[in-house]
Amino acid sequence: MMWPLLIAVVAVVALLIARQRWRKKLRDCQQTAATELEKLRGDQQEAMQQLRSRQQTVFDSMTDGLLLLDAHQRIQLANRAFQQMFAVVADLRNRTVIEALRVHELPALVDSISSEKPVVSQELKLSGPPERWLEVNAAAILDGARDREGTIMVFHDLTRLKQFERARQEFIANVSHELRTPLSLIKGYVETLLDGAKDNPEVAAKFLQTVARNAERLRLLIEDLLTISELESGQMKLNLQPVALRSVSEKVVADFRARAAARHVSLNDEVPALTVLADPDRIEQVLCNLVDNAIKYGRSGGEVTLRARPEEHDLVEVGVTDDGPGIPAEALDRLFERFYRVDKGRSREQGGTGLGLSIVKHIVQNHGGKAWAASELGKGATFYFTLPMLQREEPRQS
Ligand code: ADP
Repeated sequence: MMWPLLIAVVAVVALLIARQRWRKKLRDCQQTAATELEKLRGDQQEAMQQLRSRQQTVFDSMTDGLLLLDAHQRIQLANRAFQQMFAVVADLRNRTVIEALRVHELPALVDSISSEKPVVSQELKLSGPPERWLEVNAAAILDGARDREGTIMVFHDLTRLKQFERARQEFIANVSHELRTPLSLIKGYVETLLDGAKDNPEVAAKFLQTVARNAERLRLLIEDLLTISELESGQMKLNLQPVALRSVSEKVVADFRARAAARHVSLNDEVPALTVLADPDRIEQVLCNLVDNAIKYGRSGGEVTLRARPEEHDLVEVGVTDDGPGIPAEALDRLFERFYRVDKGRSREQGGTGLGLSIVKHIVQNHGGKAWAASELGKGATFYFTLPMLQREEPRQS
């Protein structure tokens, strides 16, 4: 009677113990699963973070600006080039394009994207300063169901290209203008000669002199233009060699003696014995242009002096000084631009092409030096340039 009862009690106790154990095991399993899940989540987050930062690095290394917008035109990503183009430093995430940039053309461009026209582009001018030109390409981002999820915009900076285009157009306009004046004078005088002026020898001689002067002006202009184009295209090969600066200055002074005397200008050569590494013909051209200007624009009855001295970094600084009217401060930086003249009438009257100093700058730069001017109004001007120095020549013992 007792045994069955005892067996039943033992069975119940065993079952209870087994249940307890299973519960614990189950709890342990759940715990392990939760920890594993947590770890997986952490790994996933880290992977996402890594992916995002890699993506950002790739986007930031692009030279074009990149902008990703969501369906409500809120910024989701802007790369570094974009931030630089629009000069924004603040965090742009979740701000709308119009809020963040105040460029009205952009929302309109995004709105113009449609299923028929999924990619649109437009040129954009940012008024600055500095004024900038951008080419903007925008395309829809579609989700799996081909619904519009957002927009990707790529900004390409066209500023340099536009500036180059503008400079080229200005150059062509300037050249045409410079050619037109002497040509129309030649044409006018030749027509008047043909109309009868040729029958009066005195008048004919005067007219022919004007024709010859203007033809010479055209020749000089074309020669200078060819030199500029050769210098700018990098086609001019320099025949570099050791050059005794003094031998060049003596030659230039001798060549300009007569011209200086005609304006009662005394030419002083104070260039010491220095050797530079240069193309002698090109350096002669530089000195000729500077001495010619100093005589032309300096004082009649004045003085023009050539000097040179060794400078830091193994350079020689050469200077051509006159005691003429000088140059206004605001013009100093612009003198070396093509066709820039302080006094247009004076330059043309003197047969100037407006290209002399631009040629000087290019030749000096091709030698690795630089050219500049200094002046005080009413007290003359000095034009400087530097060249690489080879050695200081010791004065010869006599
Ligand atoms: P240009 O053919 O007109 O002489 P340049 O390029 O040689 O052209 O010179 C540009 C301008 O710089 C000149 O038109 C002149 O106004 C100014 N300039 C050059 N040299 C001098 C100088 N020594 N003194 C005053 N003005 C000068």
